[in-house]
Amino acid sequence: MRTASPNIIQSSVFLGVALIILISCLVGIASRPLSFLAFFWPANAVLLAIFLRYPNLNTSSGWLGAFCGYMLADLLTGNFLQLTTILTFANLINTAVSLFFIQFFQINYRKYHQGLTFLGLFSICTFGGCLASAVFAIFTVPFVPNTFMSTDRLLVDFSMWWTGEMLNCILILPLVLAFPTYDEFKKIIHNRRTKTYPIQKAFPAIAVIFCVALTYLFSGPGALLYPLAALIWVALSYRLFTVTVINFLALLATYHSLNQFYVAVSPEIYLSTSMSVRIGLCMLSLAPLLLCIISENRHHLYKKVLYFANYDSLTQAMNRRYFFQLSEELLTLHPKRSFTLLMLDIDHFKKINDQYGHYAGDQVLQQFSEQIRQHLRDKDLFARLGGEEFVILLENIQHNEALRISERLRNIIETSPIQIHGQADIPITVSIGMMQYAATSPETIQNLINKADFALYQAKEQGRNKVIMSC
Ligand code: GH3
Ligand code: MG
Ligand code: MG
Repeated sequence: MRTASPNIIQSSVFLGVALIILISCLVGIASRPLSFLAFFWPANAVLLAIFLRYPNLNTSSGWLGAFCGYMLADLLTGNFLQLTTILTFANLINTAVSLFFIQFFQINYRKYHQGLTFLGLFSICTFGGCLASAVFAIFTVPFVPNTFMSTDRLLVDFSMWWTGEMLNCILILPLVLAFPTYDEFKKIIHNRRTKTYPIQKAFPAIAVIFCVALTYLFSGPGALLYPLAALIWVALSYRLFTVTVINFLALLATYHSLNQFYVAVSPEIYLSTSMSVRIGLCMLSLAPLLLCIISENRHHLYKKVLYFANYDSLTQAMNRRYFFQLSEELLTLHPKRSFTLLMLDIDHFKKINDQYGHYAGDQVLQQFSEQIRQHLRDKDLFARLGGEEFVILLENIQHNEALRISERLRNIIETSPIQIHGQADIPITVSIGMMQYAATSPETIQNLINKADFALYQAKEQGRNKVIMSC
């Protein structure tokens, strides 16, 4: 396979980063109210997020691309060269300082979705990159020609810059970090096609829309908290990426609504209150994100514990208790259906242990289970009852078909010797007792197992490597 030359790769990195930053800057420039700083300036947070998400972009070409993207955006929209250069450095400092501290404190940002890592990441950006960028800006921007900052309100400009960067960071960073990979996207599309979603699933998102609409209808300082409960509902209902999207849109709309309110009252109040509104929005945004991360962590842990409780750790087959639970449920839920129960027992397994060792015996159990599982349907129940004894419950299979399946399984095991690295293949065989249940009278699973077990005993008696049907 031919690989692209390093020059082509670095040119693509340069162009890609330059384009992303140019677009992000143009979005920011379009949102400048009253000729103050931008209402929403996503470029710096986007640059940090893509460097974290795709470390291959964090090269000299990537940085040069970012520099050109910032410069081009401002120059294209009529800004002056000296001011644009200073602003560009102020923007780049944000990402550079954040990346430095992320490395310095060894924040494992790839695990942003575990524990409180995201909180650490956000704190570093806030008190690292955002702060450094704001400090650099107030000590340089007011002193260049054609500037929009003046030396007599440095504190206000510093606060506006710092809190603005904080807000951009909390809005953009989680969105880019949680953005699904190509494989995840395919899985999501597949799920959308195959699963049906009840209308109730949309209620949390609808609640957010309703609460954000309220901030426009009943403006005022309290509006900051209108969407809180709905966002918590969202955090507990959807996956992280969906939460980041809803959070992003809801906060942007709430921010816009609050901005309109304060600008409408007076531009002076707008400046002095913007800072508190932005910090409030950061806190509002942080709550659902952390809640969603913690709730997903707990959910994964719960699924893991459930798996360990229900499956055999050696063979990944169901354990006895879980098999009994599911099969009893099946028998009571569908009393009219027919069921086939197969009892399988590996022949002379003790001899394998004795001859090849216990480790080889374990490998036999694992590969045997894998072979069987590959030839079953998803809905068939397959469990390890203990030692080298397994059970299978098939649903709605005719008598002849069940015999054919059993014979096929027996044959597959006979013709697929167990392969262990560095050792000669180990041939194995299995004996199978089969029991067909036509649901004419109520039966317990234990009764079916007893009957299949008797057929299995006969298979052993008749020389092993056989399928015997219980009569
Ligand atoms: P038969 O053909 O009559 O079934 O003979 P067998 O040797 O397969 O049956 P037996 O019941 O005499 O021996 C089963 C052996 O399985 C005994 C036990 O040490 C071994 N065994 C049980 N669980 C495990 C396990 O998890 N790993 C390994 N390696 N061996 C196990
Ligand atoms: Mg055996
Ligand atoms: Mg046995």
